[in-house]
Amino acid sequence: MSTAFIRFFARLKDFLAPDKRLARVTYPTSGPTRVTYLFSGKARVRYPISGKARVRYPISSKARVRYPISGKARVRYPISGPDTVAYPISGKARVQYPISGPVSIKHAIEALGVPHTEVDLILVNGQSVGFSYLLQSLDQVSVYPSFSTLELSPVQQLRDSLVPPLKFIVDSHLGQLATYLRLLGFDAAYRNDYEDDELAIQAYEQNRILLTRDRRLLMRKLIIYGFCLQTRDPRQQLRDVLHRYQLHNQIQPWRRCLRCSGRLRPVAKEEILHRLEPKTRKFYNEFHICEGCQQIYWKGSHFKPLRHLIEEIMAE
Ligand SMILES: [Zn+2]
Repeated sequence: MSTAFIRFFARLKDFLAPDKRLARVTYPTSGPTRVTYLFSGKARVRYPISGKARVRYPISSKARVRYPISGKARVRYPISGPDTVAYPISGKARVQYPISGPVSIKHAIEALGVPHTEVDLILVNGQSVGFSYLLQSLDQVSVYPSFSTLELSPVQQLRDSLVPPLKFIVDSHLGQLATYLRLLGFDAAYRNDYEDDELAIQAYEQNRILLTRDRRLLMRKLIIYGFCLQTRDPRQQLRDVLHRYQLHNQIQPWRRCLRCSGRLRPVAKEEILHRLEPKTRKFYNEFHICEGCQQIYWKGSHFKPLRHLIEEIMAE
């Protein structure tokens, strides 16, 4: 069987291995079940590789292996059949990828657990290629993660650049992140009951960047722009999004509705008087209204903690 060599570069570890010291191999069966692979006896195998160790190990179907890869570990593994292997590789691990029949580089990368949205540059034998490139035997492939600052014009871009202002769509599990983005003035579509299909279609039709922790979701064909968040901490998620898309100088607080992401505009008090509680009517004179859902905003008791939060984020 012929083989290509695929190497993932450094920063991939940041988004691929939530626990950077323990990468995980999952080998899904064709059915809905996943089974822990037994190497010998009934123990699950965990073993560290460090330095330049080389490891060979067989995977048969139904396997589930946990193992950490660090440093310059090299891994060889045979894959048989059309099953996919999903696993994160940290560091500069190199993978021997068996080729049987035509396989695109995009397919190979995703079979190794990396959503295409996380890849910004692919070099094959030193030449940049697109996702549809078909792997050839003995190809040396280098896969690079998202660059936010590197100029990529001389090489083949994997997708069109987005024109600012960037728009997001946020997976239904990440409500707090959506609120933070809106608070800072970014357009972030969000509902807590999105189905995966809806997320994909809306992201595609509206050119939105999908923010999610679900790698499988990012592997969908419709998804062109996406970011696989590694942390569960909403504040850190926000930091990661700001960093990846270089948004720090585009922050415009108090421009968007926290409920629906609609734009806010000033509104005269008389226009909305009938909707105000007596105390609000008495003590406040400046109001904004959402052009989407008509929610009214004023600098009431909720204002201070939010302002504090914005100041903290902007200071970071
Ligand atoms: Zn609104």
